[in-house]
Amino acid sequence: MIIKKCIGCGSILQTENQDKIGYIPSIPEDKDKPIYCKRCFRLNHYNELPKIIATKESYERVIDEVISKNGLIVLLVDLFDFTGTFIPAIVKKLRNKNVILVANKYDLLPKSSNVTKIVEWLSAMCNRVFFKVDAIHVVSSNKGYYLDDLMNTVDFLRHDRDVYFVGCANVGKSSLINALLKRFTPKTDNIISISEIPGTTIDAINIPFFSDNKCLIDTPGLINENNIINQLLPESYRTILPSKEIKPITYQIFSENSIFISGLAIISLLEGEEVSMTCYFSDKLLVHRTKTSRKSDLLANHLGGMLNPPTINEAPNIKYTDTVFELKGSKKQDIVISGLGFITCNKPCKVLVSVIENTDVFIRNAIIGN
Ligand code: GDP
Repeated sequence: MIIKKCIGCGSILQTENQDKIGYIPSIPEDKDKPIYCKRCFRLNHYNELPKIIATKESYERVIDEVISKNGLIVLLVDLFDFTGTFIPAIVKKLRNKNVILVANKYDLLPKSSNVTKIVEWLSAMCNRVFFKVDAIHVVSSNKGYYLDDLMNTVDFLRHDRDVYFVGCANVGKSSLINALLKRFTPKTDNIISISEIPGTTIDAINIPFFSDNKCLIDTPGLINENNIINQLLPESYRTILPSKEIKPITYQIFSENSIFISGLAIISLLEGEEVSMTCYFSDKLLVHRTKTSRKSDLLANHLGGMLNPPTINEAPNIKYTDTVFELKGSKKQDIVISGLGFITCNKPCKVLVSVIENTDVFIRNAIIGN
């Protein structure tokens, strides 16, 4: 068998695994024809970088390799799912390294949310786990918000080094690199050749970017197993992942009331006077207030139908985990459901959160409106 290589990155072409380097849907017969793998083709023709992913087991190796290269590290988190993407195992390894924390997807938060306050909140989150970062930025890769500010910091901290982008799958690493390429590399100069990092075994890729020939390096994203997305089939992704600015909806909730987030999560007020609950979820999800006494009936008769997602295919396998949370203190608190969204409660209260099993739920000080 003739082994063919991609002329962009030099990797051996393969047709088996889309997420691995060298992938091409089919390899042409003509042995003299120059071929790009799908990744290089997209990068060269559309300035677009597809994603690469890692399992929990292999991710430690990814971070170890990145650290050993002594570059500038951009740790990317999803602002809409901060707690679910600010992973202790990653943070622990990056302590004492040159790190810029970048919170992406700012465009999803309501326009009224204040960037300075968000940065203060992110800083407090880092301090809480003794994680010292060199800078914090809030950006939107999709809308191109604050990319110039980020680039200024990168230029200031880089000192002739490569820049490594690390973080969970779906936080927007590829989107951010694509956005930087589109913004800062002139269209005429679009023959970008990418390559695996020399001397590494991880499936990371170099994108020459800086005038000193240093690169932006995209690394495999960690799959966060406790994100709700990973409990569902791809047919539900479009409904769950918000694609535009979230319009919060506020409900006055009395004890014996529940809020359904489609059939994915149910928040029931157990104790507390009238509580104002502001819901931040994708506008494609049904947010429905009802009496808690109707919960079982709704789940039994409408899951996969009115309560969709889960879809009719997913519904038979759905199981819920129940957790009671006590929200205390004078500040507003958020109930965060990893990968789905959050609810801001204006008063102390006790709630029961039922959510699809293996999905993380957290309480935090509210990021909007405190
Ligand atoms: P990666 O796995 O970290 O490389 O993430 P991707 O770049 O593939 O992005 C994952 C999903 O998040 C895609 O659906 C993107 O369109 C979306 N996404 C990425 N950046 C943004 C952003 O700034 N705003 C919004 N709303 N969505 C984004």
